[in-house]
Amino acid sequence: MTTIVWFRQDLRVSDNPALHEATRRGPVLPVYILETPDQSGDEHPLGGASRWWLHHSLAALKEDLPGLVFLRGSARHLIPELVQETGADAVYWNRCYEPHAIERDSALKESLKTDLIDAKSFKASLLFEPWDVETKTGGPYKVYSPFWKAAQKISVPDPLPAPAEINFTAYDRGDNLSDLELLPTKPNWAEGWEDIWQPGAAGAKDRLIEFLDHGLSGYGDKRNRPDLPNVSRLSPHLHFGDISPKQVWSATQHATARKSSLSSDGHKFLSEIAWREFSYHLLYHYPQLPEKNWRPAFDAYPWRESEEDLKKWQTGLTGYPMVDAGMRELWHTGYMHNRVRMLAGSFLVKHLRLHWKHGEAWFRDTLVDADLANNSASWQWVAGSGADAAPYFRIFNPISQGPKFDPDGKYVRRWVPELAKLPTKHLFSPFEAPASVLSEAGVRLGETYPYPIVDHGKARQAALDGYEDVKSAG
Ligand code: FAD
Repeated sequence: MTTIVWFRQDLRVSDNPALHEATRRGPVLPVYILETPDQSGDEHPLGGASRWWLHHSLAALKEDLPGLVFLRGSARHLIPELVQETGADAVYWNRCYEPHAIERDSALKESLKTDLIDAKSFKASLLFEPWDVETKTGGPYKVYSPFWKAAQKISVPDPLPAPAEINFTAYDRGDNLSDLELLPTKPNWAEGWEDIWQPGAAGAKDRLIEFLDHGLSGYGDKRNRPDLPNVSRLSPHLHFGDISPKQVWSATQHATARKSSLSSDGHKFLSEIAWREFSYHLLYHYPQLPEKNWRPAFDAYPWRESEEDLKKWQTGLTGYPMVDAGMRELWHTGYMHNRVRMLAGSFLVKHLRLHWKHGEAWFRDTLVDADLANNSASWQWVAGSGADAAPYFRIFNPISQGPKFDPDGKYVRRWVPELAKLPTKHLFSPFEAPASVLSEAGVRLGETYPYPIVDHGKARQAALDGYEDVKSAG
C-alpha cells in the first residue's frame, strides 16, 4: 500500500529518512504542500527571497522525483484527504522544529493515528535532536560552548544513500509548480540570481565540494573576511534541506581525514554548523524566542521608532560604507556575510536604537537563508538580549571593522561603487576625508553618498545610556 511522504524542509532524495523508509514499504506518493500563514499557523511567513529559493529547489526536486505532487492549502486537511483518495496506509515526514510546525504536525499525527494510519516522523534536518543534548541536571543548555562539548559526545551516523528505486503512486489532481506563485513578477527583483545560486541538491553538492576543495583551508581566520571566498554559503541549502547537516558533517570529516592540515579548519567549520544546532536547541526549548527578549530585562530598553532611519538602514544609505555594503549585498543577492550581518545588526539595534524585531523581519524577507531559529537567535545575540549573547557594551565600530576585515576595501568597493575611487585609507569613513580627496574620487557627500545618519561616538554613548534601564530592570 502507498506511503505518502510529505516534503517540507528536506528537499532532497539522499539522506532523507522519511523517503528512505517509505520506499522500503512499497509505492510512494511524495507531496509538497504550500500553506498560507492562516493555514499553517505560522506567524513568520516565508519572505520573498525564501519563496524564490523554494521555487527553484522544488523544481530541482521534481526532476529527481518525477512523481512529486504540489498542492496548496491546509496540510491538516489535505493529507487526510490524500489518504482517503489514494488508499494510503502510512504518512511519513521529516521533523521541523518551528513552534507552529510542532503544533500542526502533532495534531495531524494524532488524528492520522486515530484513523489507524501509520504516521511517523524522522530526524533529518539536525545532527542532534534538541532534547538529546541535556545538561547534567537534565535541562536545556543556555550557553553554546558546553552545548557543543556535550553534543560532540553523541555520534553522528553516516548519511543514507538515495533509494535505488522508487515506485510512485499516480496522482493527477495536483497543481503545477507555477501555480504556487513563488517567484517575483512585477518587478522581478531576483533577476540574475540564477547566476549566483543553484538551489536544489545538485547545487548544494557542488557548493560543498567547491568549499571543501578551495574554501576550507584557512577557514578559521578567513571566515571573517567578507572580501574572501572562504565561507561555504551553504546556509540556504541547509535551511531548505537541499543538503542535510549529516552530509556536510560526513564530507567534512572525510576531507580532514584525507588532509590532516585541514583538521583545525574542519573543526572550526563543524563548530559553526553546531551554532545552527544550538539555535534550534534554543528555539525548541524557548519557543517564544522569535517574539520575546530571552532576557526579560531587555523589555525595559528605551527603543526608538523611526521609519526614516529604518529605511536608510534597509537600503544601505546610512553613510557608514561597511554597513551599507552589507545591506546592499543582501538586497542584490539574498545573502550577507556573517561578519557584516553582525555589524549591520549591531548598527541597527545600538547605533540607531531600533528594535531587533525590525531587523529580524527585514532579514526574514530578504535573506535566501532566512531561518526562524538562526535568525531570531542571532538577532537576540546581536542585541544582547539573547542566550549566550554578545555583552551589550560590545558595540561594533562601523568604521574600524572596515580596515580589519576588508583591508583592501574590495568588499566595500564592490557594493558601494560610488566610493570605489576613494583611497582605502578614507573608504570606511568618507566623512572624515579631506575635501580634495573626495573631489578627486568624484564623491560629493550629501549628493552621491550620504553623510552618516548618526555620529558614531554620540550614538554609542546613547546606546550605553539606554542599557542603564536594562541594568536597573534586571
Ligand atoms: P559558513 O561560515 O560556511 O557556516 C556553515 C554553516 O554553519 C552555515 O551555513 C550555517 O548553517 C551555520 N552557521 C554559521 N554561522 C552561524 C551562526 N552564527 N549562527 C547559526 N548558524 C551558523 N543564518 C541562517 O542560516 N539564517 C538566518 O536567518 C540567519 N540570520 C542571521 C541574522 C544575524 C543578525 C546574524 C548576525 C547572523 C544570522 N545567521 C543566519 C547566521 C550566519 O550569519 C549565517 O548562518 C552564515 O552567514 C551563513 O553563511 P555560510 O553558509 O557561508 O556560513
